[in-house]
Amino acid sequence: EILLSVKDLTAEVDGNSILKGVNLAVRSGEIHAIMGPNGSGKSTFSKALAGHPAYEVTGGEAIFQGKNLLEMEPEERARAGVFLAFQYPLEIPGVSNLDFLRVAYNSRRKEQGLEELDAFDFDDLIQEKLDVVKMDAAFLNRSVNEGFSGGEKKRNEILQMALLEPKIAILDETDSGLDIDALKIVANGVNQLASPENATILITHYQRLLNYIVPDYVHVMARGQIIKSGGKELALELESRGYDWVLEQAGAEV
Ligand code: ADP
Ligand code: MG
Ligand code: MG
Repeated sequence: EILLSVKDLTAEVDGNSILKGVNLAVRSGEIHAIMGPNGSGKSTFSKALAGHPAYEVTGGEAIFQGKNLLEMEPEERARAGVFLAFQYPLEIPGVSNLDFLRVAYNSRRKEQGLEELDAFDFDDLIQEKLDVVKMDAAFLNRSVNEGFSGGEKKRNEILQMALLEPKIAILDETDSGLDIDALKIVANGVNQLASPENATILITHYQRLLNYIVPDYVHVMARGQIIKSGGKELALELESRGYDWVLEQAGAEV
């Protein structure tokens, strides 16, 4: 079953054309990695899918479970099961992480036609999810992301994901700024959450993360397009050979 189908997606920022026709199909159960040089449009792609207001989609389509994602408000996209870490505000002083997570969780439950969980039941659930990211319960009482280290923010992202159980998770540079232990915990969390019913798109600049999360497909984005796709071995080839050869290969067509 195709979860997400992106066709000829074009987008601009401040009047500059950045995405120049992106095509991607993601089925349930798949893990896709999008790699590519800096400035190639990877983050723009994830933000366009999330509905970030600074990124104007100018053409093409993105169909998520039969619905036109591009016509949905960012919050609707999240409630429908599209997870993008940055949809969640960086820091919210005065709001505990626990309260924030409960509100986010219950609004997703509502979307699914389920009853809200009360504070007690939510407590039980969150304890279970904390184990996935090996996070200390003390995190829950701190303000959302306030004073969190880079690694703690990333783990908190995975905690949000564990809780919201999205149909598709788009993780942009989840590995940046992580030491090796935190990287393993995050990768382990992503692996535990991956199931035949959901899909993951990992956007990463480095091959490193893919030592721990094995993708089914690897795509190279350059100049606002996916110019090459392959299996997990493509990531290793990119690691050893860089991106230039892919650009040259695609040069004739792009
Ligand atoms: P990547 O994530 O692959 O490094 P980005 O999507 O961040 O690439 O950026 C692609 C291009 O779009 C770059 O040339 C970048 O300068 C430009 N760009 C991205 N966001 C903005 C923005 N908010 N304003 C102006 N230019 C932007
Ligand atoms: Mg960048
Ligand atoms: Mg980026």
